[in-house]
Amino acid sequence: MSALRIVRDGEVKLSIPGPSADIKSDGTIWVSGMPILGIDDPKIKTKAASAVKEKRYNDIPADAWVRLGDNPNGVWAGWDAEWEKHPENAPPKEAEKEYGRGYCYNCDSYCYGDCGDFHATNIREI
Ligand SMILES: [Zn+2]
Repeated sequence: MSALRIVRDGEVKLSIPGPSADIKSDGTIWVSGMPILGIDDPKIKTKAASAVKEKRYNDIPADAWVRLGDNPNGVWAGWDAEWEKHPENAPPKEAEKEYGRGYCYNCDSYCYGDCGDFHATNIREI
């Protein structure tokens, strides 16, 4: 089952099972009658929370709403299929290791044969 991912800074903050996500005609995303919002500022968060509670939706700042794709508040929202392709979802690349001459792959150090089973399969001149 496809889920809607709510992502900030490459981290999935919320996963909403497909049938629970209600995407309104204006693009805003709601779950169980509550809008998904992206707010960093705790003061605005508090104000928005009471606005939601009292259903004063016009008092929620325009840039706090979350819609599919990139949002001005830094939140990205999308279905699994899009999230899989999202650049921020790529696993962190391991820095390519540079080994110099004498590096032994047996003991994983510059042993120059001291370990007795010297494996320098990738000797490069340095
Ligand atoms: Zn060694």
